[in-house]
Amino acid sequence: MLYFLNEASDALFSSLTLEDELIFDKISDLIVPQLADWFAIEILDKDTQKLNLLTVAHNDPARLKIGLEFRERYPYDTMGDSGVAAVLKNGTPVLYEELTDELLKSGAKDEEHFRMLKALNFLSVIIAPLKSRNNTFGIITFVSSRESGKLYNQEDLNLIGNFANKVAIVIDNSRLYKTAQAEVAKSKRIETEILRLLEETKFKEEWLDGLIRTTPGIVWETKLNRADNSQKMTFVSKYAEEMLGYTREQLLSVDFWWSIIHPEDMKNVAANTEETLRKGAGHNQYRMIAKDGRVVWTEARSQILYDEEGNARGIRGVTFDITRMKELENRKDEFIGIASHELKTPITSAKLIVQILNKYATDLPEDHQYFIKKLDDQLDKLTLLINSMLDVNRLHEAGIPFYDEPFDLNQLVRELCDDLKIVNRNRIAIDGKIDGKLTADRERVSQVISNLLTNAIKYSEKGAPIRIVLGSSPDGVSISVKDEGVGIQEQYRDKIFERFFRVPDPQIKFTSGLGLGLNIAHQIVAHYKGKIWAESKPGKGSVFHVSLPPNLLQKA
Ligand code: ADP
Repeated sequence: MLYFLNEASDALFSSLTLEDELIFDKISDLIVPQLADWFAIEILDKDTQKLNLLTVAHNDPARLKIGLEFRERYPYDTMGDSGVAAVLKNGTPVLYEELTDELLKSGAKDEEHFRMLKALNFLSVIIAPLKSRNNTFGIITFVSSRESGKLYNQEDLNLIGNFANKVAIVIDNSRLYKTAQAEVAKSKRIETEILRLLEETKFKEEWLDGLIRTTPGIVWETKLNRADNSQKMTFVSKYAEEMLGYTREQLLSVDFWWSIIHPEDMKNVAANTEETLRKGAGHNQYRMIAKDGRVVWTEARSQILYDEEGNARGIRGVTFDITRMKELENRKDEFIGIASHELKTPITSAKLIVQILNKYATDLPEDHQYFIKKLDDQLDKLTLLINSMLDVNRLHEAGIPFYDEPFDLNQLVRELCDDLKIVNRNRIAIDGKIDGKLTADRERVSQVISNLLTNAIKYSEKGAPIRIVLGSSPDGVSISVKDEGVGIQEQYRDKIFERFFRVPDPQIKFTSGLGLGLNIAHQIVAHYKGKIWAESKPGKGSVFHVSLPPNLLQKA
């Protein structure tokens, strides 16, 4: 017996992973019929508590068939206290030296069971456990038939017990190996996935890098110190070197960015940063000093970055070089300045001539008089346009003088409304009044209100109502002009105060204008440190508000 068992274990150990499917045939050939007539290795399914055959052999195929059918019909009791169940439970092999009729009867469930057991013609049985790490996971059975007459003894029990231990080691190893292989396959899959993601991230990074590199502006990011709202540059794109001449290292060093802002724009930048922090995003124009001393006009667009708790942690933005645009703008201003100035002289003389003509007009036929009047009106309009162009330039360069004196704003508004009411048949209502006198340039304030009123008329249906509301309080003076006209879309509500900006609305395409009035009004109001803004519902109308600080008001 020892010889065959050793041969069988050698065969087993030669295939540690049990990959070779023929291995069990080899073992079975060594065992059957030399050591047993029925030999089986069975593995316990933990979930169903059923034993599944790993291999089975019998020297007589017909008997094998019966045995398998029997096994199918009467599965082993794996839960009880005797036989297979005892081996599984205790982990020790058992020997039935001789299966007597009494023994069969005691194990049989019924008469039929007994008959079939008997028909198998079994004589002697050894059942040994398959154990690994204190866990019995299957059994090995050696059965001899009555034909062979082989009776197993205690010595066989020990040998088969040892053999079972070796089989268990190999099966256990093979399982571990398979699990390990599955793990390896799994980590291989994970590794491939990681590599793929890395590749993808690398591609994205390169793509982003390329995008930032080719952006004709400085892409930057700062870290915000919330204690004092100070910022530290954490990133600047390479373009900064081209645009400003400094190295990226310089630009990233503490406070460097701040140090190259044009001194006159520092205040503006500080105020704008605060506003950006409040609003979540912002844009600003300011000057910077390049390494070679050039003044670079920049336009920055920025956005606040938030941490998980929603607190501002930094700012990210792009800064463009708009020096060329500013130069063109200056040249345009210069041209407008010169052109309007040059136009003023011939218009003044034309106006003078018309006045002389007017003097003698009483002697002229009526239609001639009408033409002279028309000419005079047109010259007035032209003068107004030229004055606007001159004003806007001079105001922009702070070259316009303001002659401040106390005056009655209520009266000024009444006069303006009366003049306009005669020319345009709009109903203009005045609500509220100012207590006290306003100390400012009457002519300039008149320009502001007159512009708001003419716009209200221009951008409304003929005859539509217009309301002007005046008020004074410790907070200052407020003037608002409300119309029921075309209104202004949200995206243009701030832009209308820019020079030459007109809303690109086909509805108002044919309304004359240069897009200067509101800019002049804005500059005049800003001169007095006041505010001007618009509220509007497109299609429903607009309200323009002006607020002036209380120091301009002298109580009556
Ligand atoms: P202008 O009227 O000469 O075009 P303004 O500077 O006075 O220039 O106004 C700028 C633009 O703002 C106008 O072209 C118009 O599109 C818009 N706007 C001004 N006032 C009103 C208003 N009351 N209702 C609707 N749109 C207005």
